[in-house]
Amino acid sequence: MEKETIFTKIRDGIIPSNKLYEDELCFVILDINPIKKGHILVISNKPYTDISECPDDVISHLIKIAKMFDLKLREKLKCDGTNILINNGSSSGQEIPHIHIHVIPRYKNDGIKFGFSHEKYEENEITKFKEMLI
Ligand code: AMP
Repeated sequence: MEKETIFTKIRDGIIPSNKLYEDELCFVILDINPIKKGHILVISNKPYTDISECPDDVISHLIKIAKMFDLKLREKLKCDGTNILINNGSSSGQEIPHIHIHVIPRYKNDGIKFGFSHEKYEENEITKFKEMLI
């Protein structure tokens, strides 16, 4: 049986949404709690939890549709750029365990700051990471 999420309920019309697009693999809605007005979510039709579960053809398609909406946001909302991001797993801040791509319109000097801090590598530590990840 398919896992039920807020997004499967939106997909099926059980929870109302502002749907902008749908096709055989995904749908697009306005985020109800936008970081910037016009913030949209590209959501897979099937409730894959995260990128590791999501087949390559589906994730490729989600990115293609995110690009389509990046262009639309630039054209219609006159934004200067977008943040395109996936919270991938609960430790990364993913609240809804159903893969989706955020596309957030951004404007010059809009004052939005993402709260990432930075770590520093100790001496030679970066080489160890390179060896682990190559
Ligand atoms: P994430 O933390 O990456 O899982 O993001 C989940 C996003 O879904 C958040 O930005 C929420 O504002 C958004 N969201 C939650 N419920 C709804 C809903 N009913 N309609 C539209 N967006 C929603």
